[in-house]
Amino acid sequence: MSDEGVKIGLETHVQLDTETKLFCDCPNNTEGTPAPNTSTCEICLGMPGSKPVPNQAVIDYALQTGLALDCAIHDSIVFSRKTYFYPDMSKNFQITQYEDPIARNGTVELDGMEIGIRRVHIEEDPAKLDHVGGSMDSANYTLVDYNRAGTPLLEIVTDPDFTAPEEARTYLQKLARIMQYLGAYDPERLTIKSDANVSVNGGNRVEIKNITGTREIEEALKHEIQRQRRAYRNGKDVPQETRNWDPDAGVTRSMRSKESEEDYGYIVEPDLIMIPVSEDAVQSADASLPELPDEKRSRFLEEHGIEKELADALITDPALADAFEESVEAVGADMAASWFSGPIKKTLNYHELTYTESPLRSAWIVTVLAKLDDGEISDQAAETVIRELVENPREPEAIIKEQGLEKAGGDEIQQFVEDVIEENPDAVDDYNSGDENAVNFLVGQVMQKSQGSADPKEARELLIEQLSS
Ligand SMILES: [Zn+2]
Repeated sequence: MSDEGVKIGLETHVQLDTETKLFCDCPNNTEGTPAPNTSTCEICLGMPGSKPVPNQAVIDYALQTGLALDCAIHDSIVFSRKTYFYPDMSKNFQITQYEDPIARNGTVELDGMEIGIRRVHIEEDPAKLDHVGGSMDSANYTLVDYNRAGTPLLEIVTDPDFTAPEEARTYLQKLARIMQYLGAYDPERLTIKSDANVSVNGGNRVEIKNITGTREIEEALKHEIQRQRRAYRNGKDVPQETRNWDPDAGVTRSMRSKESEEDYGYIVEPDLIMIPVSEDAVQSADASLPELPDEKRSRFLEEHGIEKELADALITDPALADAFEESVEAVGADMAASWFSGPIKKTLNYHELTYTESPLRSAWIVTVLAKLDDGEISDQAAETVIRELVENPREPEAIIKEQGLEKAGGDEIQQFVEDVIEENPDAVDDYNSGDENAVNFLVGQVMQKSQGSADPKEARELLIEQLSS
């Protein structure tokens, strides 16, 4: 997987799933609704005399994230002002953490390799700029929405330990999942954005800004590595600079020569006192950590004896994983794992729903799988019921009755088989002249006639018996 001579480090900003903003009581995550600039107050607009008050929920999530990433926790929380002048920050500074981040020196395990976590720190998001009629360079005018100003972010910085774009993507997926398990991040409503530092063959480091999500990262990095390689092959230099990723064009573009952190004036935020983090607080945060994705996978393998690929699919959605476990007792781990990681997950993906967002209930699924296990319905019928439970939810028994999905009895199948043989003389001739595939066609016809209620194995046996007599 590794790409010769490539070094990548990531700085990732994750929007946190809290009720209110970082330093005021304005609601968080209201982008788009309500109207722009109505979810604001004197604190998040930075009016003179206003005093920020830290949101405890943000501190708790930051602490838990730091612990989940095996970091050392700093003994206090100190905020700094990062001074810059730009319309997205009306007070002309951003409150962030600089010298002493809440957590540092962690690791994330990635398919046998270790990615170093340099630091995890809390900061506020600036306002959102809406470049109307084009990009930053070509827009007719730009609107500012301060609803996002002051909302909480966690910045997670890695060491330059990635050697290929795929690794960066896998890491981001893992990070997002860990934070989802902590309840700190909701992939459906919130965003995760990364800046990446990339160099090849010991050359200059180029920073790529604003790569959104967990999938775009791979494409952006692949493109940038190719661009740098091409430059070196043509005898050109790769200057140290900051580039912007344009996902629509699939290219990175030069923004500015790289500024250093010293170019920003950092001062300790005088309006916020230092918050001590006691050893007890760290221990109780550690004790309150939920079971994390890696632990859940290991436990599924050990306790339920299922295949690793199925476990991987199940842990992508914590609620799906819980529902899986609830049905293990009723129908056994193998059947539950293959249905939850297969047809159930496929149906949810098709409708772009998480398990929680869907109307599915584990009791319904247990009913369907138990009927399948008892031979009352076929695989095909079970899939139909599951689709129906998502699309038009009601009791599974009602669906089975309405749609006549109960498995056809022996006499019924016999009748279907006789009808199908009578209606398809060509296929029967083909079979009699040695074309074994003709039987597959006839089984298909029986299945169609029975609307999936026939057992295909039984139908095949009856057909062959009938045709050979
Ligand atoms: Zn506010």
